Amino acid sequence: MELKLTTNSTFEMDFMDIIRLFSPHIEVCEQGLPCDIEIKCCENAGKITDYSTYNNAKITIKSGEYIACENLDITGLSDIKSKSELKRLSKVMLYDYIASITGITLPYGSLTGIRPTKLYHERQADNGDAYEYFTNFLRVSKESTDLISNICENQQGIYSLDESEVDFFVNIPICVSRCSYCSFIAAELGKIKHWVAPYVAQLIREIERAKKLVNQSSYKVRSIYVGGGTPTSLSEKDFRRVISSLASIECDEFTVEAGRPDTISREKLDTMRDSGVTRISINPQSFNDNTLDSVGRGHSSQMIYDVYKMAREYTFDINMDLIAMLPDESLQDFKYSVDEAVKLAPDNITVHTLAIKKGSKLKLASYDNNGDDLAASMVDYSRAAIESAGYKPYYMYKQKYMSGNLDNTGYMKEGKACIYNIDIMEETHTVIACGAGGISKRVFHSEGRIERLANPKGMDVYMEREEKIDVDKNKFFG
Ligand code: SF4
Repeated sequence: MELKLTTNSTFEMDFMDIIRLFSPHIEVCEQGLPCDIEIKCCENAGKITDYSTYNNAKITIKSGEYIACENLDITGLSDIKSKSELKRLSKVMLYDYIASITGITLPYGSLTGIRPTKLYHERQADNGDAYEYFTNFLRVSKESTDLISNICENQQGIYSLDESEVDFFVNIPICVSRCSYCSFIAAELGKIKHWVAPYVAQLIREIERAKKLVNQSSYKVRSIYVGGGTPTSLSEKDFRRVISSLASIECDEFTVEAGRPDTISREKLDTMRDSGVTRISINPQSFNDNTLDSVGRGHSSQMIYDVYKMAREYTFDINMDLIAMLPDESLQDFKYSVDEAVKLAPDNITVHTLAIKKGSKLKLASYDNNGDDLAASMVDYSRAAIESAGYKPYYMYKQKYMSGNLDNTGYMKEGKACIYNIDIMEETHTVIACGAGGISKRVFHSEGRIERLANPKGMDVYMEREEKIDVDKNKFFG
C-alpha cells in the first residue's frame, strides 16, 4: 500500500520513521493515498515557532474516510517540551492509523528511537508510570515492555547519573579484512600499512593529553573501552604500545574489543593482562563455517573454540557477539550458533539482528533480508535459550533498518554487566574519546542536555589535524 504524506508541522521526518517501521507493507509515494497530519495551536495552523505561547494543541489525521483528532493541553510547557509531547502523540496517532489499515502491530509500537531503556528510565524517574506509559500510550507490546523494564532493573547498582565520573573511549578504526555486513569506518590493514605507525604514535599522544585532562578536571574514570574496527588487528608491537599507554588509568573496567578470533594471539592476551584489561570480546557472529566463509570473516569455527580456550586461561570476562539473519542462515543454523555460544559459557552474550547499513557490501549489493517472521523467531529463540542458561538481559538498543523492528540485546551472567555498554546506551556519562572517528560527549543531566565533539572520521584527516583536535577538545572540556 502507498501513502502520500503531508503535514503543516516540522515533524515530517519523524512521521517518515513511523511509516518506515511498516515497510514493506506501506511505502511513501506521490501517487499514494493522501494522509494529512495537521497540528493547530489555539486555532493557529501555520508552522509554529514557539509552542510555549499557546495553551492547547489539536492534532488531526485525515486519510480518505479516516479521521482522528486529539487535543493536548500544553499550558505552561516550554517550547521544547510542548514539541516533544506533540511529536510523540502525533506519532502514536499515525502508528494507530497505519496499524488499522495494515492489520499489523509491532513489538515496539510507535517507538522509533534507538534507546527504549533510556526513555523508560527517564519516564520512571519523572512520572513513576513507565510501564503503563509504554504499554498503554506508546503501544509497545507487553513482552517488549517486560524486556525493557527487566533490563532497567538489571542495571541497578551500575546505572548512575554521577557527573563527576567519565568513560574513556579509544578508537582503532582498522580491521584485517572487511566482512560483508560491516558498516564501520574500518580501513583494511593491508591497504593502509604505511599509516599505522604514525596513527598509533598520534593516538598515544592524544591519549596522554586526555589523561592530563582527566586529572585536571578531577574526573573519576569508570571504564575504558578500546574499540574499532578490531584493535587486535594491530601488530603485537603497536598493540602493546596503545594498550600499555592506558594501563596507568585507574578505573573499574577496561575492555578491549578483540572481536575477530584470527587477530588474537597469546602475546596480545599477555599484553592485555599486563596492562590491567578486565574484559574482552571474542565474536563468533556465527558458528557455521559456510556462513563465516560467505560473509568474509576470515576465520573458521574451530578458531573460535581454540582462541576462546586460550583466553579462558586468563581472568578476563569474555563477551561473545552473535548476529541473527546473516545471509542464507536458516533458523536451524542460528539456533546452532546460539547453542554453541551457550555451551562455551562466556560471561556476556550479545545478540544483534542484522541491520543493513549504508556503506556495507551487502547494502551495495542490495541484499534484502526481508524476513520479519524469521528474524522474530531467531530473536525469540536466542532470548529463551540464553535466559534459560542463567543469563539476564542488561542492555539493549534498536537500529534503523533492522530486520523486523527488533532489538539488539546484551545478556550477562549474574554480576558481569559491562559498565561501558550501560553508560553508552543510557547516555548517562561524559565520554572522553581518542582516535579517528571518536566522539566525545558531555552530559548535563540537570539541563537534559548532551554536547558532542567528533574527531575526524578518516585516519588521513585525523592525522592532518592533530593540533586543531587538541585545541577543540580542551575548549570542549574546559
Ligand atoms: S570484524 Fe568487525 S570491524 Fe572488522 S570487518 Fe568485520 S564487522 Fe567490520
